[in-house]
Amino acid sequence: MSAKKANLSGELKKYFGFSTFKGQQEEIIENLLNGKDIFVLMPTGGGKSLCYQLPALISEGTAIVVSPLIALMKNQVDAVNGLSSESGVAHVLNSSLNKTQTKQVFDDITSGRTKLLYVAPESLIKEDYVDFFKDVKISFVAIDEAHCISEWGHDFRPEYRNLKSIIDKIADVPVIALTATATPKVQDDIQKTLGMTNALVFKESFNRANLYYEVRPKVNVDREIVKFINERKGKSGIVYCLSRRKVEEFAQLLQVNGINALPYHAGLDQKVRVANQDKFLMEDADVIVATIAFGMGIDKPDVRFVIHYDFPKSLESYYQETGRAGRDGGEGYCLSFYDPKDIEKLEKFLAQKPVSEREIGLQLLNEVVGYAETSMSRRQYILYYFGEIFDPITGEGAKMCDNASNPPKLKDATEDLKKVLEL
Ligand code: ADP
Ligand code: MG
Repeated sequence: MSAKKANLSGELKKYFGFSTFKGQQEEIIENLLNGKDIFVLMPTGGGKSLCYQLPALISEGTAIVVSPLIALMKNQVDAVNGLSSESGVAHVLNSSLNKTQTKQVFDDITSGRTKLLYVAPESLIKEDYVDFFKDVKISFVAIDEAHCISEWGHDFRPEYRNLKSIIDKIADVPVIALTATATPKVQDDIQKTLGMTNALVFKESFNRANLYYEVRPKVNVDREIVKFINERKGKSGIVYCLSRRKVEEFAQLLQVNGINALPYHAGLDQKVRVANQDKFLMEDADVIVATIAFGMGIDKPDVRFVIHYDFPKSLESYYQETGRAGRDGGEGYCLSFYDPKDIEKLEKFLAQKPVSEREIGLQLLNEVVGYAETSMSRRQYILYYFGEIFDPITGEGAKMCDNASNPPKLKDATEDLKKVLEL
């Protein structure tokens, strides 16, 4: 055991240049190499990729890595290939490759040169691919962003639901599933759908102690946001809005107010979208006003504030989006504007959806309302939602929210009573 440990540290240093493992990485890797199925719940930035990249690099055969976004896969493939002097250590397999390119990928796998093969779930289903994988040596299968399997998650992808049956066809190898989404419902859903109820579960705390959470009633929202941003001149921040139209309007409003802001949403021309994102990443723009299309896989460490102009549709999304602040451990101010009328609008919208989707959507909205209207520690509320007990007095970051640092005055109850009497 100890020899093996020393060995893993050596491999970590050799391939990644790091001298110590982060969190539970080492235990996870050891268990995967020993053939166990593994389920990893770790917040964004926790170092999940290394949990499958390192064992893949030192195992015989090719590890299949399922990932939902081409951009994410490309980044990782470039990073892994940069670690080694040999070519073809990592590849992406997808429909955009031409025949020659696909053949190169297959040849590199057959020769044992390729250690990591990234595939989108919709490609993995292809029969030609499945037939090919059956005949080569597969070390293990990694399913990144595994919450995409669950309708309770914030990024459901129907293609993820078929993964279990495809993996079973390909090989009898260990599976490692990884996600930064940790609500007990999603966790349960992932384990059941992947047939991993016996997997070893590694869960790290989701507490982001450096983030400050504040919810304000949505009145004079434009003016309040302009003021908030002007007090942080030159700092990076994200403003989330629910609609594309609002994104464009509000980006303009910020510009008119002398703030260096750009819009980002999926309806913008691809070139404009990429250019705006790059300007934000390169600090040519301070603020990006965006729909939820912005963020997944974006790693800007010094985002100092995340503002929700509109409240997100689930606490899960709220956690993921606010989580883009303060990645470097520095200040991260999370300011959200809440208006019960917005929730009513979302409820009306859900009313047109199929029953199951509607029920899930309504329940997620209920949880959002509970959070927005609570007077308890927001950190405690969020962590409870993730199945974690947080001590609101002594826990790390306990003072870092509006309710904890500035408890709401006991308000006059007559307002509430009036409401009840009107009913
Ligand atoms: P996640 O997928 O959990 O969001 P990543 O795998 O993208 O996180 O890793 C986040 C960052 O942590 C990356 O910059 C990565 O290089 C770094 N990292 C991972 N493991 C270690 C380690 N053992 N020591 C130092 N840095 C690490
Ligand atoms: Mg990741």
